[in-house]
Amino acid sequence: MEPQRRNRNRRLGRERVYIARPSGHLFGRAPSFGADGSIQKGSPAPLRPRFEAPPLAGGAPRPYAGRSRFQRRYASADTRTGVFMTSSFSRPVPRPGAARSFSPIRRPAVHPPTSGADRFAHPLSRRARTHTSERTGRGFRAAGVGERDSGTHIKRLVSIPPLKEDAIRVICLGGVEEVGRNMTLIEFRNDIIVVDMGLQFNDSKTPGIDFILPNTKYLEERKDNIRAVLITHGHLDHIGGIPYLMERLGNPPIYTRNLTALMVKKRQEEFPYLPPLDIKIVEGNGRVKFKDLSIRFFGVSHSIPDCMGIIIETPYGNIVTPGDYKLDHVDGVPTEEEEETYNALAGDNNLLLLTDSTNVENPGFSTPEKLVGDNLAEIVRTTKTRLIVSMFASHIVRIGRILEATQLCNKKVAIEGRSMRNNVDICIAAGLIKVKDGTIIPSTDIANYPPDRIVVLATGAQGDEFAALTRLANKSHKQLRLSEHDTVLLSASIVPGNEKAVQDLKDNIARHGAKIIHYRTSEVYIHSTGHGNRGEMEWLHKKIKSKFFIPIHGTHYMLRLHAELAEDLGMQKANIVVPDNSMIIEIQGGGKKITVLKEKAPNGPLMVDGFAVGDMQEVVLRDRQMLAEEGMFVIIASIHSGTGKLKKSPDIISRGFVYLRESQDLLHQTRIIIKKTIEDTTQGMHPINFDYVKEQVTDAVSRYLFQKTAKRPIVIPVLLGV
Ligand SMILES: [Zn+2]
Ligand SMILES: [Zn+2]
Repeated sequence: MEPQRRNRNRRLGRERVYIARPSGHLFGRAPSFGADGSIQKGSPAPLRPRFEAPPLAGGAPRPYAGRSRFQRRYASADTRTGVFMTSSFSRPVPRPGAARSFSPIRRPAVHPPTSGADRFAHPLSRRARTHTSERTGRGFRAAGVGERDSGTHIKRLVSIPPLKEDAIRVICLGGVEEVGRNMTLIEFRNDIIVVDMGLQFNDSKTPGIDFILPNTKYLEERKDNIRAVLITHGHLDHIGGIPYLMERLGNPPIYTRNLTALMVKKRQEEFPYLPPLDIKIVEGNGRVKFKDLSIRFFGVSHSIPDCMGIIIETPYGNIVTPGDYKLDHVDGVPTEEEEETYNALAGDNNLLLLTDSTNVENPGFSTPEKLVGDNLAEIVRTTKTRLIVSMFASHIVRIGRILEATQLCNKKVAIEGRSMRNNVDICIAAGLIKVKDGTIIPSTDIANYPPDRIVVLATGAQGDEFAALTRLANKSHKQLRLSEHDTVLLSASIVPGNEKAVQDLKDNIARHGAKIIHYRTSEVYIHSTGHGNRGEMEWLHKKIKSKFFIPIHGTHYMLRLHAELAEDLGMQKANIVVPDNSMIIEIQGGGKKITVLKEKAPNGPLMVDGFAVGDMQEVVLRDRQMLAEEGMFVIIASIHSGTGKLKKSPDIISRGFVYLRESQDLLHQTRIIIKKTIEDTTQGMHPINFDYVKEQVTDAVSRYLFQKTAKRPIVIPVLLGV
């Protein structure tokens, strides 16, 4: 056991999370127990009882009821200073009047707050702070004071200074500390323009969560000023948040290109209870005027058609963002079309550039999609076996090329995977993919054709559990079976984190004897990224020549590299801001300087967890992680309400902790400790305070289990009074 690891504060997102810990362990001292379960000499003293004092006359709760002198001291320290917090906190706090939570993941025991913001992160001073801000009204936005969100949390907002007449505010609500959930807002006087509304898939830090969304609280509070939501293109990291967030923002109009609009609508069909979206399709480069801002658009190359870049016109110059982009080029020379598009921007007074940093680590120019398309078409033409092509369903340009190639050599295409089928349908409806009748056949008809006439387009090149190719590889597909007469082409790079899944997938495909063509082993390019490499970024910076620069879309390191690149190209360091999510950036003094405010917009990420959407799930996530790492330990004990004695030996249920059958001695000792703790605590107590007894049992058992196993399972005591 390595105490540092266990004693450190675990981080979930931006929150500091306190781990369950028997109070005696706070400073690394574990008590020792005798054979009879008694605490041995030299161990930390047992906890003092913390009974709630009776309410004051008139039913008002005592402000510091149930707190120790120590706690009261820090609570009142807060009262004196009337301070505010600098980021959004959402830790659990017991609801006044409601039953105390029995969760053994307890708030940390009292210890002196260190300094600075840490002090205010101390949950014990929470109630006191609410108190303070209500009384002094300083440092808090009135609406944010003690605002109760999910019933178990109190959320507070920092007051954000009003926007000056000659300042432009830019806030990246997501997409600048991760790849995904892209969303940026630009605010000037009375107009707010939102660019993109994406989602991020969960990672190991958010077990069981479906998606992570940007925090839109800042926008919700100013929703009357939102003039437009501009969607650059139809990928989920740009449109995925729409069904969850648009209603919160009062359903402002969405401006986007036709294909994106179709994709947004298709997705919205899965949320029939939502009010209809107001989508305005913008083709070409026309201008849309709002009160204080105007917007224009331009065409951008990416892995999906109908991508648009955005120009927001302000009195001090233009704010330009191409969204996700790459350049169509031949050997590093952009095509005439690209030159034309960006030359049109080059002549403008460009105040600020916001661009994609995804591929900043890759030198040169990215492989042109056209080359990939040509190679795939050639493979489709020359393959003499059945061909299964797997790629991202979002790679619509490439899907179109494959369909075109199959038609040319008179082969048939079966489409496997719902997202792939949806996207193909949408593109056919939008006229972006043209297929003759009879080219696309249902999978059930595959057997009616010779194998070399069949191409199967399937999702699952990342080894995702339920995707079509995975089902093929592990023989769970209903109609299709792989054999040595098949060729499987994986036209996708491996998304970081999916390496193991892709390796398993390849192994399983290889077991069927099928031939695999993968981008790493292929002699020709069969995959290309949708994002421009470093060379393309440089080219773009030189064209736009903006005064200020904010790198977006990427993790912090990517953004840093991108900022350095801009510096290398001659931009002053003071004119570049590397953003964090919800950082408030302002271009002040009528376009004179760019600066970061010390206040931050609310920034806890919103989580989509089944039907629930909220930013209050840290407690749940913390429990899930603890359950996954340490398991759980449930104690069921019946106590005689009169005498406080146990009726019988307590029952113990545990999952994911230790194998109980082989741990009889541990169980036996634990039972003794439970019995002793309960009977010692209840002695002379009348009526029995079950909550308090539970706390004592949790403490004693957690401590003992930790001492014996170096593990901290979630201990859940269930006490029945009989
Ligand atoms: Zn994209
Ligand atoms: Zn993107």
